Amino acid sequence: MSAYVPLLAVLLALLVGLAVGKAWERYKLRDGRWIDRRRLRETPHYMLGLNFLVDNQIDQAIDELTQATSTDTDALEIQMILGNLYRQKGQVGRAINVHQALLQRTDLRTLEHAYVLLCLGLDFRHGGFVDRALEAFQEVVRLDRLNRYAFVNLQKLYEDQQQWGEAARVREQIAGIDARRREEDEQILGFLRNEMGTVQANAGDVTAAARTYQDVIDLDPAIVPAHLNLGDVRERQGNLTGAVEAWEKLVQEVPDRAYLAFERLERAYRSIGAPRRFVELCQQLIASDAQDWRARLALSRHFSAGGQHRQAFDQLLDALPHNPHGLVIHQEVWQALSALGLDASLVRRYVDLTRNAVFYLDPHVCVRCRYRSTELLWQCPQCHEWNTFVEERIAPAKDPGVAELSES
Ligand SMILES: [Zn+2]
Repeated sequence: MSAYVPLLAVLLALLVGLAVGKAWERYKLRDGRWIDRRRLRETPHYMLGLNFLVDNQIDQAIDELTQATSTDTDALEIQMILGNLYRQKGQVGRAINVHQALLQRTDLRTLEHAYVLLCLGLDFRHGGFVDRALEAFQEVVRLDRLNRYAFVNLQKLYEDQQQWGEAARVREQIAGIDARRREEDEQILGFLRNEMGTVQANAGDVTAAARTYQDVIDLDPAIVPAHLNLGDVRERQGNLTGAVEAWEKLVQEVPDRAYLAFERLERAYRSIGAPRRFVELCQQLIASDAQDWRARLALSRHFSAGGQHRQAFDQLLDALPHNPHGLVIHQEVWQALSALGLDASLVRRYVDLTRNAVFYLDPHVCVRCRYRSTELLWQCPQCHEWNTFVEERIAPAKDPGVAELSES
């Protein structure tokens, strides 16, 4: 019998341990006071509120969560969410009051304090109180060095103020948080530094601007506007050969965006007495990518300007199958046809090619928020992300190689 005593003791200890563990899970000691963490989940209002939240029914979510807080007035996360919901509804003043009241609590731990402050910063940003939002986000990142979201908000605030240098410094800190997102961080840094170069150029300091653009390109040759801008400042400095070099580098590094340099290059080649180089450039692009309708369009315009309307027309008909809905090509076709005296056989070829086409004028779309723009934009005016625009192209019926939305 006595042999069982140690075993029984072990078993008892285990049971006691389990019971204490369960209790620990349910109750939490805070400031010498036991809090029942399950109480909140026992009211239907909490669960209902969360469900409404998921369903995006903001008013109902506010009602239920407000009732849930009457069960547990301490529940920090619910108060925080309530404040955020007021902000989302546009009641910024109310959101600020809720979050400021939470900050008065003396029982907040550092991380909780940082999160409430982050919410308050978002309230201020939403309400247009830039200085107070800046102050709040700066304090958050001081308390929590790894809070990427707060850093990003800080960066966006500086961007809104066109303080590109400050925004870039914040992005450098973001880049230090997570090495796996290095590529994305460096690309955004490139765009921000490119803006810094433009500020220098606008202030008349073309030498500094040229150096800035060159640094951007050395770090990431895919930052397209830096090539364009570098060429522009070199041209302003009277260095047209250098400008041509910069624009040709763009064509070479990012052939999909080569068309952005077409007008500049065509004009520059003509100025240096080598207009033929533009034809060669377009032909090279077409040879390496048969779908490059922009190079064909540019070539067509070049021929047309030289009075070679028939060659211009042929280029356009080659371009059309690769972008049958692009209005710019059709407009060129109409001009070429009228220059050619509306030759009946050419008109028929064109009509046959476009029988089923739908025309539209807004071929660029932001992949983050679906914002549409006729132009290619580097920063989305709606979601403020960098380099998110792709060209939207509806493929011709017999071209299986192009997806409905093709990145270019
Ligand atoms: Zn967007």
